Amino acid sequence: HALSNIKKIAPYQPGKPITEVARELGLPVESIIKLASNENPLGMSPKARAAIQDAIDGLARYPDDFELKAALAKHNGVDANQIVLGNGSNDVLELIAQVFLAPGRSAVFSAHAFAVYPLATMGVGGECIAAAAKDFAHDLPAMRAAVRDDTRIVWIANPNNPTGTFLPYDELKAFIASLPRDVIVVLDEAYNEYLAPAHRVDTTEWLKEFDHLVITRTFSKIYGMAGLRIGYALASAAVADLMNRVRQPFNCNNLALAGAIAALEDAEFLAQSFELNQAGMQQINAGLDALGLKYLPSHANFATFHVADAAGVNQRLLKQGVIVRPLAGYAMHDWLRVTIGTQAENARFLEALATAIK
Ligand code: PMP
Repeated sequence: HALSNIKKIAPYQPGKPITEVARELGLPVESIIKLASNENPLGMSPKARAAIQDAIDGLARYPDDFELKAALAKHNGVDANQIVLGNGSNDVLELIAQVFLAPGRSAVFSAHAFAVYPLATMGVGGECIAAAAKDFAHDLPAMRAAVRDDTRIVWIANPNNPTGTFLPYDELKAFIASLPRDVIVVLDEAYNEYLAPAHRVDTTEWLKEFDHLVITRTFSKIYGMAGLRIGYALASAAVADLMNRVRQPFNCNNLALAGAIAALEDAEFLAQSFELNQAGMQQINAGLDALGLKYLPSHANFATFHVADAAGVNQRLLKQGVIVRPLAGYAMHDWLRVTIGTQAENARFLEALATAIK
């Protein structure tokens, strides 16, 4: 049964690597820009980089995650026993699936949701139930109606990837409250730090009220550490304990732990990354407007826009050394997703796009 389920999994399609495009075009890697995986164009905090360099001396030892958990507990206003560390937040998504799903159990998520939800669900033999979206955003009443007796997880990303859409917090909280307590709501906040202050609510407060809520966050996005692979979950102590039982010992390496601690302390870099993204979003939106292209209102670090021939436009962008993300795998065949880059990268993308849609 499990094997037949695994054969049905569509493999995860990562953004096309820079080296591959450079090789295809016969160009140096420096001439290619990748705006395909929602990475931070500034890289990581210089303080995190220094901490990682220092941590190299300790690599003969197994990792000790005590300090990062203490730092995250303080940062998020929770106890250390409510934290589960992961090798990227994808890792904690899998841990949640391992604990709560099995053959005969199901997970609900929206159409156009993050591709790892079906992978994590089917990887442990669970069944996927996709709820219809509304204007490409999660439709909470449709998701609530999709929950069955055998449902044990509801996956929600806020803001969502690949649409950038955002759910108002009052509606989200009412949705969580409406679910049976044996259904875990996974609130994936990979893009949380990109939300404008007016939209940001401290969802960790909800953990005091809801034992069936798990919040996931990552150092891959605004912290600019996607290649280090570190993320985490915040949950009730009881749920965190279950997840930690199935977690591999030492799933996060010494460099990632040291880098994450330093990154948390560098508020200045975070603010700088936020500002760059706000300005870049305006630049990209204005450029898309000027080209007469429709795009979804995005609350994250990417813009998802509509073109008549997405596969062709994607190819013509690649020919110009610009990598964006096609969304056919997300049932958005006429759409492309571009990560907000530096001002120069955004300008080059818009110029290439103007040529590609001619
Ligand atoms: N959730 C969402 C919604 C994402 O877009 C991503 C990254 N593409 C992740 C989780 C996973 O990121 P990571 O494993 O690098 O933390």
